[in-house]
Amino acid sequence: MRSLLARLPRRPWTAVLTAAVLSASALTVLPASGAETGCRVDYTVNKWADGYTAQIKVTNLGPALDGWRLSWTYTGDQQVTSAWNATVTQTGGSVVATSTSWNGALPTGGAAEFGLQGTWRSADPAPSDFALNGVPCGGDGTTPPTTPPTTPPPTTPPPSADCGSAVICSDFEDQTGSAPSGDWRFTAPDCQGTGTAAVDTAVAHSGSRSLRVDGRAGYCNHAFVAATADLSSVGPVMHVRMWVRHTTALPSAHVTFVSLPDSSQSGRSLRVGGQNGALQWNRESDDATLPAQSPAGVALSRPLPTGSWQCLRFAIDTTAPGLDTWLGDEQIPGLHADGVPTQDIDRQWLARTTPPRPTALRLGWESYGTGDDTLWFDDVAVGSAPIGC
Ligand code: CA
Repeated sequence: MRSLLARLPRRPWTAVLTAAVLSASALTVLPASGAETGCRVDYTVNKWADGYTAQIKVTNLGPALDGWRLSWTYTGDQQVTSAWNATVTQTGGSVVATSTSWNGALPTGGAAEFGLQGTWRSADPAPSDFALNGVPCGGDGTTPPTTPPTTPPPTTPPPSADCGSAVICSDFEDQTGSAPSGDWRFTAPDCQGTGTAAVDTAVAHSGSRSLRVDGRAGYCNHAFVAATADLSSVGPVMHVRMWVRHTTALPSAHVTFVSLPDSSQSGRSLRVGGQNGALQWNRESDDATLPAQSPAGVALSRPLPTGSWQCLRFAIDTTAPGLDTWLGDEQIPGLHADGVPTQDIDRQWLARTTPPRPTALRLGWESYGTGDDTLWFDDVAVGSAPIGC
C-alpha cells in the first residue's frame, strides 16, 4: 500500500500508546532516552512476535529549526516498512527521518511527533544514538544547526475543505422539506422499524440544515439516508469527508452509522461504526473488523466524542487493500490498513485481499442488538481527491 501512503497527507498523531500499555502485556514502553542539550527523544515501541510500531517524539532544546532530520541506528534486525508524519529511509541499520511540510518548524522547546511500523526477527533493542540535524542528542552541549544539512523534503499541502468538484458535495441547504429529497433518499435496508431520518433545521454544521437520524436499538430499526450518486467510478482512492455529531457514546455492542455497499463483495457493505466504545470498520461479507477487537486494538482506535461536530474522513483504496481514517486532524492508528498485516490492527482485515469497490453512500443507523443514538450529518463529500475539514 505504499502508493496510498505516498498520496495521502499525514497528520499528527497524538499519544496513542498509553492506554494500550495498560491493557496489553505485549507492549513495551521504553523510557525516554536522549538528553539535556540539543535535543531529547522519546521512543515508545509497541512490539509483537515479528513486528512493531514506534512513536517518536523529538524535542528541540537548541535554537529554532526550519526543518529537521533525526537519525539513529538499529543494532538489531529491525526494518522499517512504513511511516507517518515523517519521511523515513533506512540503509542497513542506519535510519533517517525527515520532517514534513507541516512539522518542520521546531522552535526552541518545540516538539514533533511521528511514527513508523517495522518488522524484526531476532533482536530489536531500542536505538540510543539519536542525532538531530547531525548533532547527537545528549552530546557535548553543542546545538544543532538551524537548517537541515540536506535539502528540505517535498511539500504536501493539506487538502482543501472545498468539495465543489467532488461527486458528492452536500451541505443539505437545498433540502426543502423534512423528508430527504433531491440527491438523498430515505432507505431502510432489510427491514424498517422505529428508527427515523429527516432533514433538521434546528441543528447544523453549516447553514441551517443537516441530516438527523434517530437510531434505535434492534436490527430491524434500520434508518438510512442514501445519496443517489453512483460512486462506482470514484477513485482509484475514494475520499470521504463528513461532519457528524451525536448524543450517545458508542456502545460496547456493534453499531453502524455509515454504510458503503461494495460491489467487490456482492453488494455487501463496508461499514463504519463502533464497538467496545470506539470507532471501527466492519466488513459485512466476512464480519472482519478494523482494528481487531482486542484490548490493544480497541485502544488504537478512538471514541466518537458526543455533543460536538466532528470531522470524520476516510480514504479507501479501490486498487489495493488500503484504508485510512482521520478524526479531525488525527489519523487514527487503529483504523489504518496497509499491505503489512499488523497484529491487533489489520491482520484480520487483510485476510480478504480483493480491493473494495464502494458504489454508494448511506448515512444512518444500524444496530445489531443494543445501542440507541441520535446523529446529525452535514457537509458530506465524496470524491477522487483528498477533501479536508
Ligand atoms: Ca448544512
